[in-house]
Amino acid sequence: MRVLGIESSCDETAAAVVEDGVRIVCSEVASQVDIHHRYGGVVPELASRHHVEAICPVVEAVLGGCGMAPSDVDAVAVTQGPGLVGALLVGFGFARAFAFGLGIPCVGVNHLLGHVHSVFLDPERDPPAYPFVALTVSGGHTALYHVVDSLTMILLGQTRDDAAGEAYDKVAKMMGLGYPGGAVLDAMAVQGKTGGLVFPRALLDGDSLDFSFSGLKSAVARFLSEDEGATSCMDIAASFQEAVVDVLVAKAFLAVEIAGCSDLAIVGGVAANRGLQRRAAQMASDRGIRLHIPPVSLCGDNAAMIAAAGFHYLKAGKTLALDADVFSRATDPGRRVMVHR
Ligand code: ATP
Ligand code: MG
Ligand code: FE
Repeated sequence: MRVLGIESSCDETAAAVVEDGVRIVCSEVASQVDIHHRYGGVVPELASRHHVEAICPVVEAVLGGCGMAPSDVDAVAVTQGPGLVGALLVGFGFARAFAFGLGIPCVGVNHLLGHVHSVFLDPERDPPAYPFVALTVSGGHTALYHVVDSLTMILLGQTRDDAAGEAYDKVAKMMGLGYPGGAVLDAMAVQGKTGGLVFPRALLDGDSLDFSFSGLKSAVARFLSEDEGATSCMDIAASFQEAVVDVLVAKAFLAVEIAGCSDLAIVGGVAANRGLQRRAAQMASDRGIRLHIPPVSLCGDNAAMIAAAGFHYLKAGKTLALDADVFSRATDPGRRVMVHR
């Protein structure tokens, strides 16, 4: 089954064709980074407008890249949420019209479940075995899930304030490194030394699986204002990265232990982080845990992961109702369980 995936939840307009939930036939991502760069963050209204401009060319490029006509598509999978409502609506409206016009099914995929399915798209590696633990670390989310089957993830813990990617972006902004700052800080951290400069690690005591990154962000801000340029930027980046990675890795492996799983997936934009990848790989090998991290091209937002997850929605018959709508937030924090629509 060839599924056309559509993603427009934030600042990437993406389309992809994926076969049977695992094989990427063609994938295209049109990034808006150049547009939002000067504002130091994503401007929702600008994002929506640029999705409108990009959606048709991106889908045409994907179908052209696969040598497929629209009538060769078997079904459409589109990100329904969470994300920016105006941005989501562009992909959602396009996908529903496209599917309706062709008389094929359309499913609405949870973006975070999509990120988790990115680990099933690497032809070089064995996929994780259910149940497994997933650490989703991105620009808007930092959470741990017990992934029970292809459509069910139970929230184990999440950030109480900033997401890890958000902390990267804010610290990069304070250091004048532009937006988004994750990859830049990562590259600097690799060249820096961590000795002496220790930033706080929140919620490491006990067995909480929640995260908090706002204190770390404030500590870096305080340090920068007092230091006045005396310490090398590389060393600050290295110390900041070490604090983030310490917490992410400690909690991820604690979740694996608590859930009694032997597979851990790390997904989302921050999964591309070299410091995080290195430490996670080392801990996984020490503990005999199988670690799954998607290739860098599938860590950030893309539509292949949406098509991959969508395949399972289709198999389960979860097609969209005519009055279905997009949603901005994924979970009810009180219930701490994510139920799929
Ligand atoms: P969400 O998935 O939560 O809705 P999003 O889709 O905006 O948010 P992604 O596209 O998955 O997030 O990830 C973008 C984030 O990843 C940005 O915050 C960016 O700074 C961060 N990031 C990208 N590469 C790296 C890296 N090498 N190290 C750390 N952070 C990184
Ligand atoms: Mg993005
Ligand atoms: Fe994302």
